[in-house]
Amino acid sequence: MTLMIAPIARRRGDAPALIDEQGQRSWAELESRANRLVRALRAAGLAPGDRIALFAGNSRAVFELAAAASHAGISYVPVNWHLTVDELAHVLADSGALGLFTDTRFAGVAAQALARVPAAGSRLAVCAAIGPGQPAPAGFQDFEALVASQADDSDPPDQMQGGPMFYTSGTTGRPKGVVRPGAGLQPAEGLRLLAEGLMGSLELPPDGTTLLCGPYYHSAQFGWSFYPMLMGSTVVMSQRFDAQQTLELIDAHRVTNVHLVPTQFIRQLRLPPEVKSRFDGSSLVRVWHGAAPCPPQVKREMIDWWGPCIHEYYGSTEGSVVTGISSQEWLERPASVGRATFQTDAIILRDDGSEAAPGEQGTIYMRSRRGIDVAYHNDPDKTAEAHRGAGLFTTGDVGWIDAEGYLYLTDRKIDMIISGGVNIYPAEIEAALASHPQVQDVAVIGVPHAEFGEEVKAVVQPVPGTEAGPALAEALERHCRAALAGYKVPRSFDFRDEMPRTETGKLQKRLLRDAYWQGAQ
Ligand code: ATP
Repeated sequence: MTLMIAPIARRRGDAPALIDEQGQRSWAELESRANRLVRALRAAGLAPGDRIALFAGNSRAVFELAAAASHAGISYVPVNWHLTVDELAHVLADSGALGLFTDTRFAGVAAQALARVPAAGSRLAVCAAIGPGQPAPAGFQDFEALVASQADDSDPPDQMQGGPMFYTSGTTGRPKGVVRPGAGLQPAEGLRLLAEGLMGSLELPPDGTTLLCGPYYHSAQFGWSFYPMLMGSTVVMSQRFDAQQTLELIDAHRVTNVHLVPTQFIRQLRLPPEVKSRFDGSSLVRVWHGAAPCPPQVKREMIDWWGPCIHEYYGSTEGSVVTGISSQEWLERPASVGRATFQTDAIILRDDGSEAAPGEQGTIYMRSRRGIDVAYHNDPDKTAEAHRGAGLFTTGDVGWIDAEGYLYLTDRKIDMIISGGVNIYPAEIEAALASHPQVQDVAVIGVPHAEFGEEVKAVVQPVPGTEAGPALAEALERHCRAALAGYKVPRSFDFRDEMPRTETGKLQKRLLRDAYWQGAQ
């Protein structure tokens, strides 16, 4: 048997498979390079079940490696390239990676982290630097030399499929490595079935063109580009998100599908009118967004501008894609994140573990229809905490499902504010504030209060040019009073020039909260 992409390479040959800022690779080249990499990984002593870490920017090489590792039964760990030396050392030690692939931009951090991992030198079988065009720094093998070191012969695939092991975003605590008992034990066709299933149920065009404009180390960005590639989609990638460049890339490459997060929508909506009016966008078939709540007016403006190609999903590193909703369904049910997809069930449980009635709020649990469970790597306690029996697990989101099966998210349990014994969910207050024309971004958090334990505070980033001060705070309070019950109205407002959001659009509330709680407990 050959590489999973071999049939596509036969069909598409010289057509581009991967395009990054360095240039493009055809399907034939991708197949040849992945074949060589399979052999190089095996020659370095890596065996099925071993892991390699990918600590590099968005690049063709990362996708070549993922394709090769999958074939050889080797698991790969995409690592956030913003990590510090300490954090990377933790991920390398925690994941037990036996190989590290980096690029010249990140090789300095990678080298220091390697030095801190006990016995790293003897544990790391492969250590290569990925271009671009510069020689590999000391201590690293050159990636191109590694590829060239092997013949372009197809090696048989391993019995087991090598899949990604992602670390969660770290929104609620230290990033957790997610493993999927069951997924790694699927026969070699497992990845193809997953790719086909995703494409089928989520209606991605086969042989289309996918744009990756967020970091591949986030599970959603990776999933929404690697799986389309396995189905024959060309993948165009940019190093980092730029609102105008994204529009230009979509038009230049006739992109059919792209994954975006709400922050990216907001940046695109704020582009100057002359830039926006140049955008054609007629090639787009599916624009998937998720990962964080999208303010309803932002979504409406995007649908007005880009049309009904905007689809939302709800999911997580742990649960993959759980629900999905089209523009039309969403316009009829604003605020819903959709119905269960082909692969996962969403179930609402009460605190006593019984199933909630339609419309009743509770904790959202997911269960794979394909028997894939979830575990946190090296963390049996967290794994047990997230489960209610085998296969039924939660990422701590709270919500409800209506009689038609549409899921509505309330918030994350961990973000809930308890003020004087009353439970308050910030997401609803944030949505109300986000609709104010002078608010660019907002986070609502609980801050210490002597009598109530916590009280509601809004931290607001005003739109540029707005004066932040008591007058704006008063206007925002009035706005909240008109939209929300009195107990939900923030008791105080703080203003910031920028909110702590990750590159994948996640609000790091922990950082905001910590500043107010330090010394209070
Ligand atoms: P950590 O587990 O380390 O705290 P994280 O949960 O943010 O990080 P991810 O797996 O990237 O890591 O994110 C999953 C979470 O993102 C979900 O549990 C949910 O809270 C949020 N999310 C996903 N899709 C949506 C959506 N469409 N609308 C609102 N929130 C969403």
